[in-house]
Amino acid sequence: MDEFLRTLTDIVGRDHVLVDADDAAPYLVDWRGRYQGAARAVVRPTSTAQVAAVVAACHAAAVAVVPQGGNTGLCGGATPLADGQSVVLSLSRLNRVRALDADNNTLCVEAGCKLAAVQEAARGAGRFFPLSLASEGSCEIGGNLSTNAGGVQVLRYGNMRDLVLGLEVVLPDGRVWDGLRELRKDNTGYDLKHLFVGAEGTLGVITAATLKLFPSPQARATAWVAVPDPAAAVALLASMRAACGDRITAFELVARAALEIVLKHIDGARDPLSSPALWSVLVELSDTLPDAALEEMLMHELASASERGLVIDAAVAGSLAQSATLWALRENISEAQRIEGVSIKHDISVPVSRIPHFLVAAGERLRAIWPDVRVVAFGHIGDGNLHYNLSKADAEDNDAFIARTDEANRVVHDLVSELGGSISAEHGLGQLKRDEIRRYKSDLELELMRRIKAALDPAGLMNPGKLL
Ligand SMILES: Cc1cc2nc3c(=O)[nH]c(=O)nc-3n(C[C@H](O)[C@H](O)[C@H](O)COP(=O)(O)OP(=O)(O)OC[C@H]3O[C@@H](n4cnc5c(N)ncnc54)[C@H](O)[C@@H]3O)c2cc1C
Repeated sequence: MDEFLRTLTDIVGRDHVLVDADDAAPYLVDWRGRYQGAARAVVRPTSTAQVAAVVAACHAAAVAVVPQGGNTGLCGGATPLADGQSVVLSLSRLNRVRALDADNNTLCVEAGCKLAAVQEAARGAGRFFPLSLASEGSCEIGGNLSTNAGGVQVLRYGNMRDLVLGLEVVLPDGRVWDGLRELRKDNTGYDLKHLFVGAEGTLGVITAATLKLFPSPQARATAWVAVPDPAAAVALLASMRAACGDRITAFELVARAALEIVLKHIDGARDPLSSPALWSVLVELSDTLPDAALEEMLMHELASASERGLVIDAAVAGSLAQSATLWALRENISEAQRIEGVSIKHDISVPVSRIPHFLVAAGERLRAIWPDVRVVAFGHIGDGNLHYNLSKADAEDNDAFIARTDEANRVVHDLVSELGGSISAEHGLGQLKRDEIRRYKSDLELELMRRIKAALDPAGLMNPGKLL
């Protein structure tokens, strides 16, 4: 064992410096199995002091650090590069709930807390933490912050950036910035915490966060709704927002192709409607009043929308179990796609009003090049965010198609850019879109980002090869 590894062992103990290939393997590959990396070691500290000492040791030895949370990221951000020169810093053992202040509606947790555990801690105090992703049983708060995660309730509560009040961060030289404030008002200069949110581990290591809590919803109503087309879905969203206000918690668009993959691969999945619809939305209302009569409100709005031709059919959940069954259809799309095989994935956003135009124009432009392209589109249409994934039905054709990923990206991302959108709505850039983003951000914006990186991490040791 070399001196550097001995130093790490002295800090975290021999059991938590993984160098054996089998032990390290799960930390060196991303969730989709697309990126395979190598590392000098995987280090698993259990306290902020240990994280700080490990990062300081890496800084002294000029060794790069790749922070890793639940390793569910979809852009290869948590996977080390293949050169094997860096250390993977797993935050998963840093997983305590530090404080809960119910009157202040705040919860302070360490970075390695799983999202589901954070939701549970809030629930235990009669409060609600709204970030909700299909990966919530595995992803961790540090990863959620570092990717500025979105999910299915952004429409009502915002994304991770909107849910954080303070951060504790180990800087690239090993110093600890204690910014764990619990304030909703604090205008004392630059709001540094926002630099680290969405930074994908390139500016420092988040070790703890103070999060906002909300009153717990006591009533929910969920429906699976067939709509004629995405334009009807956008019109339905607008009319439901006008009628139901912030009670609309989720509004998810699902194309038939996405539902069909779920029906094919996920045990027990059934189409909630009797005739197949090309487009559906999963809509959910929630309220803190237990007797809010949401089911009636939902049915009334859907009936009125149906008279205006915006709704073809709908299944309203009559119980929590039925609601969970509807949600499972939406939440299993990523898993079903993984089973189905490789596809070219896009995580894009445009203003909500331009979603219908995007879907029509992207389909036309792609079919002009690949007439039999299969488009699996779904996502958080209420936030203007679509997962727009492309493949060919035939596996042999698909390999040739995947080899033309750059061409497909150009078609989709150029259109997104024309519509004033973003090529990464919620998953980040990581390794996947690091080169691509240079085409779409202005030189000035890229220069400002590089200057921030140089100011915080002059030696370039934090998660190299990602984001910038
Ligand atoms: C089935 C499935 C569904 C998903 N659905 C959604 C969704 O609806 N919305 C959404 O936004 N995402 C979704 N994701 C993507 C993913 O779950 C999120 O990006 C999540 O926030 C990543 O958290 P993680 O702990 O797994 O982070 P990792 O994958 O471990 O890391 C992600 C990035 O953050 C950095 N990082 C991790 N921890 C820290 C830390 N403590 N300090 C500094 N940097 C750190 C890593 O270096 C990396 O760049 C989904 C993923 C899957 C597999």
